[in-house]
Amino acid sequence: MGGTWRIARIFGIDVNIDSSWLIVFVLITWTLAGSYFPYQYPDWDSWLHWTVGVATSVLFFASILAHELAHSLVAIRQGERVRSITLFIFGGVAQITEEPDRASKEFLMAIVGPLSSLAIALVFGVLWLVVRGFSEPVGALARYLALINASVALFNLIPGFPLDGGRVLRAVIWGISGNLRMATLVASWFGQGIAFLFMLWGVWQVFTGAFINGLWMAFIGWFLRNASISGYRQVLIRDMLRDIRVEDLMSHDFETVSPALTIQQIVDDYVLRRRDHAYPVADGDRLQGIICLHDVKAVPRQRWASTLVREVMTPWEKLATVSAEDDGNTVLTYMNTHDVGQLPVVEGNRLAGMLRRSDIIRFMQVRSELGI
Ligand SMILES: [Zn+2]
Repeated sequence: MGGTWRIARIFGIDVNIDSSWLIVFVLITWTLAGSYFPYQYPDWDSWLHWTVGVATSVLFFASILAHELAHSLVAIRQGERVRSITLFIFGGVAQITEEPDRASKEFLMAIVGPLSSLAIALVFGVLWLVVRGFSEPVGALARYLALINASVALFNLIPGFPLDGGRVLRAVIWGISGNLRMATLVASWFGQGIAFLFMLWGVWQVFTGAFINGLWMAFIGWFLRNASISGYRQVLIRDMLRDIRVEDLMSHDFETVSPALTIQQIVDDYVLRRRDHAYPVADGDRLQGIICLHDVKAVPRQRWASTLVREVMTPWEKLATVSAEDDGNTVLTYMNTHDVGQLPVVEGNRLAGMLRRSDIIRFMQVRSELGI
């Protein structure tokens, strides 16, 4: 799908909108203003139907955002980093950079989502009771938002991973058994079972005439199924990498470049020939820094012949490095949190190897093809 746009920054978290979200936003606004409110309140004029429709739709998505913010704030309180919240076609998702390391943490982070939706439903429910005698439009808006937020809470409590309810289930099994992998496997089975029911229900609806609704249900089922399978796979990967040292993952096949070369020489002799994205800069064995495509692109082309590597490289002091003894899981988490594709592996001042994200992926592919 298209792109994502950042619309706000709340508590240090980027709030993004995916282009697929525009589809649901238009669809829901159109349904509310074009058929739901006109059907319920036929004596309003169409201007009022649209005003209340748009306001309800905007507040609905604000409620989804509040649900995701609740997850994020609890995560931050528990010491996690939250990169962003993205609204997309199926609702919202908070990008929490690390999987929780304790069952109690995951339980709190998961349960707070449905609880906040329930709280929002209660607020709108009370608002509806208070204002319905004075203002029919505000009452209608409050009633709809109370019902839809209660539905969001219930839907998310379905115990299929990766829905919030599935995470709660995983946390409970994990807390009792102490085995995250087994807990994820069980929660993922539930998730796949529920996804299957959604798809079945969708197909049944398609054949009984509710074509659009049926397709939508099947689509949600398909999405849930993929998410619950990949959720379990991620845990497997982490489990596997935890026992692997960087030494076994890193590549010895790297070429260092001299800090005295020009950018033009780097491009001609290394980048175009080897197609690597980053090159360690070293004087003999001593690592001085790293130069990557990003640094090269920052220099205007007409200055490539006159600019030296040492002027644009990321110097050693600012460089994130790993040791050959680190475990694969820690390093992969670091790469994901800091959005880096490669890390130099150092021993003292000496460059022992390069670890690229692709090295880790290839390592896993070979293992899984051998069935290990
Ligand atoms: Zn949630």
